[in-house]
Amino acid sequence: MSSKSVPRNKIPWYPAIDEEKCIGCRECFEFCKNEVFEWDDENNCPKVVNPLNCVVGCSACKNLCSQDAISFPKIQDIKEIIRELRERKDGEFTK
Ligand code: SF4
Ligand code: SF4
Repeated sequence: MSSKSVPRNKIPWYPAIDEEKCIGCRECFEFCKNEVFEWDDENNCPKVVNPLNCVVGCSACKNLCSQDAISFPKIQDIKEIIRELRERKDGEFTK
Protein backbone atom coordinates (compact mmCIF):
# COMPACT_ATOMS: atom_id res chain seq x y z
CA MET A 1 0.00 0.00 0.00
CA SER A 2 1.43 3.36 -0.99
CA SER A 3 1.10 6.07 1.64
CA LYS A 4 4.04 8.23 0.60
CA SER A 5 2.01 11.32 -0.15
CA VAL A 6 0.40 11.37 3.31
CA PRO A 7 2.34 12.26 6.50
CA ARG A 8 2.98 9.17 8.61
CA ASN A 9 1.58 10.80 11.75
CA LYS A 10 -1.86 10.98 10.10
CA ILE A 11 -2.04 7.21 9.62
CA PRO A 12 -3.06 5.27 12.76
CA TRP A 13 -1.25 2.04 11.84
CA TYR A 14 0.66 0.44 14.69
CA PRO A 15 0.30 -2.61 16.93
CA ALA A 16 -1.71 -2.83 20.12
CA ILE A 17 -0.67 -5.39 22.72
CA ASP A 18 -3.17 -7.31 24.82
CA GLU A 19 -1.20 -7.80 28.02
CA GLU A 20 -3.70 -10.36 29.27
CA LYS A 21 -2.94 -12.65 26.34
CA CYS A 22 0.83 -12.02 26.11
CA ILE A 23 3.03 -14.75 27.59
CA GLY A 24 6.28 -12.77 27.32
CA CYS A 25 7.94 -14.92 24.64
CA ARG A 26 9.69 -11.82 23.12
CA GLU A 27 9.23 -13.03 19.52
CA CYS A 28 7.72 -9.75 18.36
CA PHE A 29 10.21 -7.62 20.27
CA GLU A 30 13.22 -9.46 18.86
CA PHE A 31 11.83 -9.58 15.34
CA CYS A 32 11.01 -5.91 14.79
CA LYS A 33 14.09 -3.87 13.88
CA ASN A 34 12.23 -0.55 13.80
CA GLU A 35 12.30 0.08 17.56
CA VAL A 36 8.53 0.17 17.71
CA PHE A 37 8.72 -1.83 20.96
CA GLU A 38 10.54 -1.57 24.23
CA TRP A 39 10.56 -4.45 26.65
CA ASP A 40 8.50 -3.85 29.77
CA ASP A 41 10.31 -5.85 32.45
CA GLU A 42 7.74 -5.11 35.08
CA ASN A 43 4.87 -6.60 33.09
CA ASN A 44 7.04 -8.99 31.02
CA CYS A 45 5.58 -7.89 27.71
CA PRO A 46 6.39 -5.54 24.85
CA LYS A 47 5.40 -1.90 25.06
CA VAL A 48 4.69 0.18 21.95
CA VAL A 49 6.93 3.22 22.40
CA ASN A 50 7.49 4.39 18.82
CA PRO A 51 4.20 3.68 17.06
CA LEU A 52 5.02 5.82 14.04
CA ASN A 53 8.11 3.70 13.31
CA CYS A 54 5.76 0.89 12.35
CA VAL A 55 5.67 0.31 8.60
CA VAL A 56 2.19 0.99 7.24
CA GLY A 57 0.72 -2.31 6.09
CA CYS A 58 3.25 -4.49 7.94
CA SER A 59 1.77 -6.96 10.41
CA ALA A 60 4.69 -9.36 10.69
CA CYS A 61 4.80 -9.25 14.49
CA LYS A 62 1.10 -10.09 14.69
CA ASN A 63 1.67 -13.10 12.46
CA LEU A 64 4.50 -14.27 14.73
CA CYS A 65 2.51 -14.08 17.92
CA SER A 66 1.25 -17.51 18.98
CA GLN A 67 -1.16 -15.95 21.50
CA ASP A 68 -3.03 -13.59 19.17
CA ALA A 69 -2.00 -10.81 21.56
CA ILE A 70 -1.16 -8.25 18.85
CA SER A 71 -3.80 -6.41 16.88
CA PHE A 72 -3.95 -3.78 14.17
CA PRO A 73 -6.71 -1.65 12.71
CA LYS A 74 -8.52 -3.03 9.66
CA ILE A 75 -6.42 -2.41 6.54
CA GLN A 76 -9.54 -1.29 4.66
CA ASP A 77 -10.12 1.46 7.24
CA ILE A 78 -6.53 2.63 6.87
CA LYS A 79 -6.83 2.72 3.08
CA GLU A 80 -9.96 4.81 3.44
CA ILE A 81 -8.20 7.25 5.78
CA ILE A 82 -5.32 7.62 3.31
CA ARG A 83 -7.72 8.13 0.43
CA GLU A 84 -9.65 10.82 2.33
CA LEU A 85 -6.46 12.62 3.37
CA ARG A 86 -5.25 12.68 -0.21
CA GLU A 87 -8.54 14.02 -1.49
CA ARG A 88 -8.87 16.64 1.23
CA LYS A 89 -5.39 17.99 0.82
CA ASP A 90 -5.26 17.44 -2.93
CA GLY A 91 -1.53 17.19 -3.41
CA GLU A 92 -0.42 19.35 -0.52
CA PHE A 93 1.55 16.47 1.00
CA THR A 94 3.51 15.76 -2.15
CA LYS A 95 5.39 19.10 -2.08
S1 SF4 B 1 4.86 -12.45 20.34
FE1 SF4 B 1 2.91 -12.25 21.42
S2 SF4 B 1 3.15 -13.47 23.29
FE2 SF4 B 1 5.20 -13.12 22.46
S3 SF4 B 1 5.92 -11.25 23.54
FE3 SF4 B 1 4.98 -10.60 21.59
S4 SF4 B 1 2.85 -10.14 22.17
FE4 SF4 B 1 3.70 -11.37 23.81
S1 SF4 C 1 4.11 -4.48 12.07
FE1 SF4 C 1 6.19 -4.72 11.31
S2 SF4 C 1 7.16 -2.72 11.59
FE2 SF4 C 1 5.27 -2.73 12.79
S3 SF4 C 1 5.87 -3.31 14.84
FE3 SF4 C 1 5.28 -5.19 13.80
S4 SF4 C 1 7.15 -6.02 12.86
FE4 SF4 C 1 7.55 -3.89 13.46
